[in-house]
Amino acid sequence: MKRTVLDRLTDMLDIADIETSYYDKETGKIIFRSEDEELADDGFDDELSEGCRYIPLPGPHDLNDYEIMKDFSRSVDDNRKRNILLTAISGKGAFRCFRQSIEELEMEDEWYAFKKAAYRNIAREWCEIHGIDLSDSMNIDDFEKKFSYIIMSRAADYFDGGRVTSLKEKKRGNWTAVVEGSEDYTVVVRLDGKEIIYSDCNCPYDGDLCKHEGAVFLSIRERLKRRSKKDLSSGENPGVEQDSIRKKIIDDLIEIMDEDELRKTLTEILQYDKRRRDDFLLKYGREHKDLL
Ligand SMILES: [Zn+2]
Repeated sequence: MKRTVLDRLTDMLDIADIETSYYDKETGKIIFRSEDEELADDGFDDELSEGCRYIPLPGPHDLNDYEIMKDFSRSVDDNRKRNILLTAISGKGAFRCFRQSIEELEMEDEWYAFKKAAYRNIAREWCEIHGIDLSDSMNIDDFEKKFSYIIMSRAADYFDGGRVTSLKEKKRGNWTAVVEGSEDYTVVVRLDGKEIIYSDCNCPYDGDLCKHEGAVFLSIRERLKRRSKKDLSSGENPGVEQDSIRKKIIDDLIEIMDEDELRKTLTEILQYDKRRRDDFLLKYGREHKDLL
């Protein structure tokens, strides 16, 4: 998959020597300046102070690694692991203790994924503040525009033909699927909300996006739509609706029943329903409390 502005910026935040990197608004490229270049009188400073073209990338002070570490520790489900991590970051040498605990608990993958997602959010906010267009990112609702017409129509054929099998969401946003064809290929997709932040297929196609990835994106979109429909219908609570229909019918019936019928019905209810009877006696027959 082609790397977006956001991909490149997120990776940049992970590199220590970030203070001499700049985003060039005109070309959309990230440029690096060596210490010598920084000191040279080449007019770069003037251009920088105008603030139109070059923007310094977020520095270490913008990336609150301690907060990210704390958020990660708190997010761990396992009580034991969570306590170990929270203890590690609570004293002196927090960063070193935390790294050590992560290694001992074999949680490197989870930690790096979490940190990367946090950096990505920082990069996204930074782009918004500086008015950097992120429209080169891909969304599960409209990824088609990133594909060439031919590749997308082949992808649609694969999808319609049921060639996408074993589609699974292993962790939230982490999808895998197998696409069956003359050979089977595995596609891995990572979503952040609706944004497609990573996608890879092990087929030999060397363009940006292949038909297998397109077919899997279509399947994921369909799965997500089905899921949200299900969530909606379970949220409606059909019981509540039925109760109100029932109440309306009862109101209408009481309206048309004559007094004798109502008396008879009420007597029957009070005879057979103990709870109703007790309520009735409590409310209207205080002098017969001993019968309750
Ligand atoms: Zn492929």
